[in-house]
Amino acid sequence: MPGKFFRYQYAEGDIVTMKKQHPCGSKQWEVLSAESEIRFKCCGCGHIATLSRNNAEKSTVAVEPSRPKE
Ligand SMILES: [Zn+2]
Repeated sequence: MPGKFFRYQYAEGDIVTMKKQHPCGSKQWEVLSAESEIRFKCCGCGHIATLSRNNAEKSTVAVEPSRPKE
């Protein structure tokens, strides 16, 4: 069994809905890169934020993949 279970898979280009609204009014962030830390760009104002995977998962409500699954 893997020791760590990831609740969400983040991939470049995904749109993530967060629990908290950004001051600009948007709750949606685009994933710029996903490694041990996730870089997000706010879809409302373009602000860039970096979160650890742990914190990102805590704040995430939903992940919309940028590409449909094949
Ligand atoms: Zn914003």
